Amino acid sequence: MSEPFLNYISGRWLSARSGRTFANHNPANGDHLGDYPASGPEDVNDAVAAATHAFKSWRLTPAPKRAEIVFRAGEIIRERKEDLARAMTREMGKILVETRGDVQEGIDMAYLAAGEGRRMYGVTTPSEMPNKWAMSVRAPIGVAGIITPWNFPFAIPSWKLMPALVAGNTAVFKPAGDTPEMAWHFSKIFEEAGLPPGVLNLVFGSGSQVGSPMVEHPGIHVISFTGSTDVGLQIAGRGGALGKRISLEMGGKNAIIVMEDADLALATDAIVWSAFGTTGQRCTACSRVLVHEQVHDRLAEKVAARAKQLKLGDGLDAATEVGPLVNAKQVETVEAYVAIGKGEGSLVAGGARASGGALAKGHFHQPTVFAAVKHDARIAVEEIFGPVLAMVKVRSLEEAVQVNNASRYGLSSSIFTADVNRAFAAMRDLETGIVYVNHGTTGAETHLPFGGTRGTGNGHREAGHTMLDPFTEWKSIYVDFSGRLQRAQIDNA
Ligand code: NAP
Ligand code: MG
Repeated sequence: MSEPFLNYISGRWLSARSGRTFANHNPANGDHLGDYPASGPEDVNDAVAAATHAFKSWRLTPAPKRAEIVFRAGEIIRERKEDLARAMTREMGKILVETRGDVQEGIDMAYLAAGEGRRMYGVTTPSEMPNKWAMSVRAPIGVAGIITPWNFPFAIPSWKLMPALVAGNTAVFKPAGDTPEMAWHFSKIFEEAGLPPGVLNLVFGSGSQVGSPMVEHPGIHVISFTGSTDVGLQIAGRGGALGKRISLEMGGKNAIIVMEDADLALATDAIVWSAFGTTGQRCTACSRVLVHEQVHDRLAEKVAARAKQLKLGDGLDAATEVGPLVNAKQVETVEAYVAIGKGEGSLVAGGARASGGALAKGHFHQPTVFAAVKHDARIAVEEIFGPVLAMVKVRSLEEAVQVNNASRYGLSSSIFTADVNRAFAAMRDLETGIVYVNHGTTGAETHLPFGGTRGTGNGHREAGHTMLDPFTEWKSIYVDFSGRLQRAQIDNA
C-alpha cells in the first residue's frame, strides 16, 4: 500500500488525534486490507470546524460551478470504474457484476446531481398585492452529517453527498466501519475533481465514537443516515431533540407477490436475484415471497432448485454467483434465524454455513429457502439481512397486500401477475416507497425518488427529483416595489 488511509479534514490527510487505528479485512478470505484512523469526538470537532469555515464561501459559489466539480468527479469515477469495483468486492464481498453496478450508480448520480446545479428550480408566483413580487428559492442548510452503511459503499454516499454539495452545503462524512476504503476513494476523487478544502470532510471511526458525536454536534444542521432501523430511530430521537433535520433510510423486509397467473420462470429468476444478490444484504432484498396457494409448491421447488445451484465464492472470481457475508457477526445472525426458521417452515434449500475448501477463511452461508412459512413467523417478519428467503402462502391478492402492508418496514414490494387489473390494484394498494410490477424488489434507478414508508424511513426521499429536499430549506422572498406600506391580508380584505 503506497499511501496511508487517513481522515480528510480541511483539505488535509490526517491521522486520528489519538493516533489509534482499526483494521479493514476482506470478508472472502480474511486478508488484511489496511488500517484506518479510529477517530473520536475531537476529530469530529475538527471536521465540523473545517466544514463551518468552508460553508462561508461554498454557499456563495454559483450552483452551476459547484455542480461542475461533481460532474468532474463523475468523469473520474467512470474512468476508474473497474478498479473501484474490484476494490469494493475485496472490501465487502459482493460479486464484481454488482460492485460495478454500485459504482455505476455513483456515476449516474454524479451526472444527475450535476444537472441540478443548473436547475435547482424555485417558484415565482403572483403576489396578492399590487407592485409586489413573490418567489421561493432553495437555500443550503449548512453542515450536513452523512452516515452510511457498508452494503452500497459507493452508491449511498453518492446519493447523499452529491446533492448536498450541489445545493451548497458542506459535509462531514462517516462511512461504515466495514467499508472505509470506498469512502477514502470517494473523497480522493472529489479532491482531485477540485473540491475546495473543508467542503467535504471524511472522518473514519465507529458509530459510537464518530457517528454519535456528529448527531450531538451543534455545528451539524442536518443528518442524512442510511442503516438499521434501531440506530436510525435513536439518531432521530437525539437529533430531533436538538432541532436538527434528520433524513433516514433504514431497514426492509421486502416482499415479492406471485399470483397464480404469473410467469413462474420469470418470477423465479427475479426471486433468486432479489433474495440472494449481494448475499441478501441489500436494503431492497426480497426476503419473503407471498405466493398464491395454487402455485406455492411449484414455485418453491423452482426457487429451491436454483438456490442450491448458486456458486459461492470470492466475488472477484467470475464464476461466483454469491459472495460472503460482510463479517462474522452477520453470519451468526443468519445462523440464528435459520435455527428459528427450522421451527417455522419447511427447509427446502441451504440451511447451513458454507466453509469447505476455498471458503474456509471467509464468512459464507448457503442460500437458504423456507417454504410454507406462516405470514407472522419471525423469519417472515424480521429483517435478517442475509441469504434467507421465507415463502408464505396467500389465497388472494387482497391477502397478499394486507400481509405486505402489515410489515414494520416499507421499502420495496413487487407483484408478478399477467392481469393488468390486479397489477394496477397492487400499484395503488401496496404501501411501500417503491413498487415493481413483473420485476424483483431491487433495481432502483437514480432519477426516481428512493426511500420507504413506516420503519424504513421518516418521510424523506433520496435521489430523483426529490434529491435536494433533505439538504435545502425553502426561503420565501417578497419584494415590495409600491413605495408604500402594504399589509397583505389586512389591506386585502
Ligand atoms: P447500522 O449498524 O445501523 O450502521 C449504519 C451506519 O451508522 C454505520 O456507519 C455505523 O457505524 C453508524 N452507526 C452505528 N451506530 C451509530 C450511532 N449510535 N450513532 C451514529 N451512527 C451510528 O447498519 P448496517 O448494519 O451498517 O447496515 C445494514 C442496515 O442498513 C440494514 O438494516 C439495511 O436494511 C439498512 N440499509 C437501508 C438502506 C435504505 O436505503 N433504506 C440501504 C442500505 C442499507 P459503524 O459501521 O462504525 O458501526
Ligand atoms: Mg472489510
